[in-house]
Amino acid sequence: MRLKPLSHLICLVLLAPGALAPAQAPPQQAPPAPSRADILRGEYSSWRANNDLLSYDLDIRVDPEKKFISGKNTIRFKMLKDDTRIQLDLFANLNVDKILLGPTELKYTRELGTVFVDFPAPLKKNSIQSIEFHYSGSPRETGRFGGFSFRKDPAGRHWITTACQGVGASVWWPNKDQQQDEVENMRLHVAIPSALTDVSNGRLVGKTDLGDGYTRYDWAISYPINNYCVSLNIGHYEHFSDKLGDLKMDFYCLPENLEKARRQFAQAKPMIGAFQKYFGEYPFKRDGYKLIEVPYSGMEHQSAVTYGNHFANGYLERDWTGVGVSLKFDFIIIHESAHEWFGNSITGSDISDMWIQEGWATYAECVYVEAMFGKEDALKYVNGYKSKVRNSQPIITTRGANQTPSQDQYFKGALFLNTLRSVIDNDARWRQLLRAYYDRFKYRNILTDDVVAFFNQRTGKNLTPIFDQYLRRAAIPALELRFQESDGSVSYRWKADIKDFAMPVKVGRRADWRLIQPTTEWKTLKTEVKKEDFEVATDLYYVDVIKN
Ligand SMILES: [Zn+2]
Repeated sequence: MRLKPLSHLICLVLLAPGALAPAQAPPQQAPPAPSRADILRGEYSSWRANNDLLSYDLDIRVDPEKKFISGKNTIRFKMLKDDTRIQLDLFANLNVDKILLGPTELKYTRELGTVFVDFPAPLKKNSIQSIEFHYSGSPRETGRFGGFSFRKDPAGRHWITTACQGVGASVWWPNKDQQQDEVENMRLHVAIPSALTDVSNGRLVGKTDLGDGYTRYDWAISYPINNYCVSLNIGHYEHFSDKLGDLKMDFYCLPENLEKARRQFAQAKPMIGAFQKYFGEYPFKRDGYKLIEVPYSGMEHQSAVTYGNHFANGYLERDWTGVGVSLKFDFIIIHESAHEWFGNSITGSDISDMWIQEGWATYAECVYVEAMFGKEDALKYVNGYKSKVRNSQPIITTRGANQTPSQDQYFKGALFLNTLRSVIDNDARWRQLLRAYYDRFKYRNILTDDVVAFFNQRTGKNLTPIFDQYLRRAAIPALELRFQESDGSVSYRWKADIKDFAMPVKVGRRADWRLIQPTTEWKTLKTEVKKEDFEVATDLYYVDVIKN
């Protein structure tokens, strides 16, 4: 997901230069109590946990003139226990036309955005079931990226897009709308007026003239996919293509932007090359890679990344991190495509742990910068993110409560991973760990505990207190220093919320860092460096410093 530029401006205005220096973080804000809608949407309830999704077959017709959609989703799932009810989701403004199990029409109950489906007899554990969920209505344009938008392009032609992360895919189609369980594969059939083109996820396996002015596009998605990644992009698209080895790359833009797109989208190939080198093979090779122009900033739709960054470097033509690096590349192409590895292949199973998607994708930007422009730029780039961090609440929120973490999940998430790299303090080892991390969790839905266990196990260190301080507490650790210049020494300790917090850090002179191992207990170091010259490597470790 990409942030609204407005939020970015708010961050910058609130955080004047130097505002981050004090060790005292702003008071921690208690999260609001979850509403009934949040519980229904966020909780992995027993009626969700009693089944395992196998596949969706979504077949819809889109009428741009009436701003109306209708269709059905065939949902295949395996029962994990005997039960008579499952929980699905569909926004309340859309109509449930009928739900069928074979020829049998099923009873259902709607509550807000939830649809509880009841079966006349218990479905048996391990049985494979298939239901047809028929629905229709006028989907809502809502949320950061539009939800389901019926818009016009600058030439006045229909331009219809979906982007529903956060809002939920149930804003336009019925599904089990959560992140823990993904289908193994999916089919998507989209009938639209024949003058238009639909570009969706996966491979185009069919295009059929329906004879009534409509054409149906059939897409086959051959990997697990998040609900919010399923996407329609309907417009007057021009198409061009390329290849990276045997990976097919397809690009779509409005006809007027063809030359600009050819120039700008050329960044995709070396980027994928860099990510493959650092993280592993592009995750959705059978489905190919697509980059598709849309009217909003962009979204990581799986194998169909959407793009609205004005065909210019930076983010909406700005130097995004403000340190002279962002204008060297197209932020949206890099960030949204990084999500193919971190977000789409590895997914947080609850939005409470969404830094697994956003923190890692933001860190992947830094990896890209390092690969393309060198380590110095990468370090500048990641530290540029400090101006956007607020440290007012923990990155990880309450599980099961539909609670989207604050924007710190992006910037602090990346700064935390840069800190972790410095804790490892060995570039070759860090690169091995990045590859091994991706390899361990690819195509999986995980929580932070899995990430922590991985790094603890692979490094043989207890990194849990470090993860906890950065992700489960609002404040960052502060290195407290007390100088005794008369006897040429400095005492040091960590000020942190986690009682047994311990983390190495480099101090002294930049040209000749000394690695110390502070804990929350005072220790003393002999040093000739005077208080005013004594530095802490705050570009390698995201920490505050208190000098006494
Ligand atoms: Zn993102």
